[in-house]
Amino acid sequence: MWLGVITLLPDMFDAVSNDGVFGRALSSGRLTLELFNPRDFTEDRHRTVDDRPYGGGAGMVMMVEPLRRALEAAQEAAPERAKVVLMSPQGQRFTQAMALAESESKALILVCGRYEGLDERFVARYVDTEWSVGDYVLSGGELPAMTVMDAISRHIPGTLGNHQSVIDESYLDGTLDYPHYTRPEFAGTESVPSELMTGDHNRTRRFRRSLALQRTLERRPDLLTGRLFEPLDRQLLTACAERLGAHTVEKEREKKQDH
Ligand code: SAM
Repeated sequence: MWLGVITLLPDMFDAVSNDGVFGRALSSGRLTLELFNPRDFTEDRHRTVDDRPYGGGAGMVMMVEPLRRALEAAQEAAPERAKVVLMSPQGQRFTQAMALAESESKALILVCGRYEGLDERFVARYVDTEWSVGDYVLSGGELPAMTVMDAISRHIPGTLGNHQSVIDESYLDGTLDYPHYTRPEFAGTESVPSELMTGDHNRTRRFRRSLALQRTLERRPDLLTGRLFEPLDRQLLTACAERLGAHTVEKEREKKQDH
């Protein structure tokens, strides 16, 4: 997959380019990353990329022309016409399902805003869609771009050592991941759940699924509403709900006793 990023701060991308899953995807050639700095596409002595907003107000606005030229260079470098995504707190919330869908495309261009944002005429004319990483405002689109790039890269076959890890992960099937344990078997007074020590793969799978469903029910019940479940999941969910119900009743009883 080819990724083009339009950014005024290309050095920030060193943070993800040399190490970890994303760095390995680059060095193995599964991913190509090219950075385009609008400042390199200016014609004045000061390499100006921003100006004051019409109508007044605080902050500066990124100008159309350097962005347009940077985008043109990015589209020329892309192996095919790439979708243009603006990182924006006003965009669609980026999800795991979107990361999976995008991993199947050949080329993608991410545009990182700075200052108060971009001249709206650039957005209206050249941007296909806008993605947000959450309901908060960051100082620039670089961290959001790195976030979505990393999430997408995990779905590119061969990027993760074990493809099952991405299949098991939180959100992909609409549930959160199950808890993980590693050596040693005893950490202080805590031991690893016995269900994981039997070597019985079916038992392990069922136990993990039950914990994943329980976590989702406890932490993100909204992910479970309006969904159809397979019979085993239904059975496990019912058992979880009963366990949690009993737990809540017990907690309430303890609270009353304390008072
Ligand atoms: N004035 C803009 C607003 O209130 O919507 C915020 C501009 S912000 C300071 C500068 C840039 O950071 C934005 O253009 C965008 O590219 C990026 N950005 C900030 N928060 C973001 C978020 N939650 N998701 C994606 N991009 C974000």
